[in-house]
Amino acid sequence: MAPVSKASKKIFDYVVIGGGSGGMAAARRASGIHGATVALIEAHSVLGGTCVNVGCVPKKVMWNTASIYETLRQAKGYGYEFGPVQFNWSIIKNKRDAYIKRLNGIYDTNLQKEKIEHFHGHASFVNETTINITKEGSDPIEIQGQHILIATGGHPIIPNVPGSELGISSDGFFQLEEQPKRVAVVGTGYIGVEIAGIFHALGTDVTIFSRTKQILRKFDPIVKDTLLKHMQSQGVKFTFDSKVTSLKKSEEGITVEFVSDGQKGEIEVDVVLWAVGRAPNTKGLNLEAAGVKLDDKKQIIADEYQNTTVKNIYSLGDVVGKAELTPVAIAAGRKLSDRLFGGPRFSTSKLDYVNIPTVVFSHPTIGTVGYTEAEAREKYGDENIKIYETRFGNMYFSVLDEKEPTAYKLIVTGPEEKVVGLHMIGKDSDEILQGFGVAIRMGATKADFDSCVAIHPTSSEELVTLR
Ligand SMILES: Cc1cc2nc3c(=O)[nH]c(=O)nc-3n(C[C@H](O)[C@H](O)[C@H](O)COP(=O)(O)OP(=O)(O)OC[C@H]3O[C@@H](n4cnc5c(N)ncnc54)[C@H](O)[C@@H]3O)c2cc1C
Repeated sequence: MAPVSKASKKIFDYVVIGGGSGGMAAARRASGIHGATVALIEAHSVLGGTCVNVGCVPKKVMWNTASIYETLRQAKGYGYEFGPVQFNWSIIKNKRDAYIKRLNGIYDTNLQKEKIEHFHGHASFVNETTINITKEGSDPIEIQGQHILIATGGHPIIPNVPGSELGISSDGFFQLEEQPKRVAVVGTGYIGVEIAGIFHALGTDVTIFSRTKQILRKFDPIVKDTLLKHMQSQGVKFTFDSKVTSLKKSEEGITVEFVSDGQKGEIEVDVVLWAVGRAPNTKGLNLEAAGVKLDDKKQIIADEYQNTTVKNIYSLGDVVGKAELTPVAIAAGRKLSDRLFGGPRFSTSKLDYVNIPTVVFSHPTIGTVGYTEAEAREKYGDENIKIYETRFGNMYFSVLDEKEPTAYKLIVTGPEEKVVGLHMIGKDSDEILQGFGVAIRMGATKADFDSCVAIHPTSSEELVTLR
């Protein structure tokens, strides 16, 4: 092993491991706003982490691509006429890659502007205050931090079945150079459902493998059942209660062998996408050297202030796993930096993890905030819960042959009917939710919703006229 360069053993106020959503936000707030000396270590050659490179951003570009195709089909129902639509996957892939490259550049510039020292390499603990950074072709270096943040994110899980390497993960989805004709998506969390939806909307033949009879297991039934029924009616194939047992190369693609309801089966596809969950990036951090403890899912244990089990070492974002969303990692990172470097005014600064709005970019989209009906019943008791529900056809589809469902559920508690859950599926739910999220965080009641004059004709007006 090459000797550690002592010359560069610098001491920083804050050493941030991971240049993704949480790490970047924490580093920039600490240095740019509070003037701390900050080092940021990123293993990849580019900054931005999962969201920018293989997550939210390229995913939304592909969702937009798929939505445009849908709109073009629907346009005919509105009287438009045009010839056959040609779609070129590689054009949007190249443009998307170029856009991400621009974002990577902006992230780099931001670090420079805010005088954050950027180390490119793999970080691991030497002890509670010292971090070793290794990079192929360079001597390892050590730096020290008064405070250290672990924001190393997560990675897709590839199951241990014969031939699993023939499949791709969500990371591989973004590398596809052409649109496959037949795809198997294994897993029905939001990532699997979103990618399956993109493929289907673009005309790929999609089979989804679910190990239960459901999709989006943790979501409220009004959204997950409505979406499942709609996807089935659209021709997406589902294999329920199933387990993929092996992948084999076939003449024309990949053979997926599975067991469903105790029966063996197989299908042939061009691409198999594993979407069976994500695991935290803790391997190789040598956390034992610092004494940082993990939970039984191998996620870093962090309290509500993002403190790990070791003083002056903190963790947040996907590696902690409370709510694996970019804005959560960003908000937690900023709050933590305020608390550490912002002086007494921020001494109790922390992220409130309650009522975090979430969207699934399915077709149609889902928006959800607060408790599901089952969670609310468990927390408040059946007698203290009231449910308001509506299902209707969005006016947009009134002149179209193909309809999309819309369904909203409001969950309220107590005599004042405080809103504790909102679950929506239907066109534009992704954009509608944010404003209602603000109201619910402010403690809105059903009466507050009703007192807001409806905007007509919209679908969101149904939320302020629920009976
Ligand atoms: C397909 C997909 C779609 C998604 N869509 C959405 C969405 O629409 N909306 C949303 O809010 N969220 C979405 N997410 C989730 C979102 O991307 C994550 O919640 C977010 O990126 C987490 O931020 P983070 O800072 O915890 O980790 P990351 O952004 O993953 O950053 C961690 C960084 O740490 C680096 N690292 C790891 N180990 C080391 C080490 N030892 N040394 C140095 N560097 C290291 C990694 O290279 C990485 O760059 C999506 C995720 C995926 C996979």
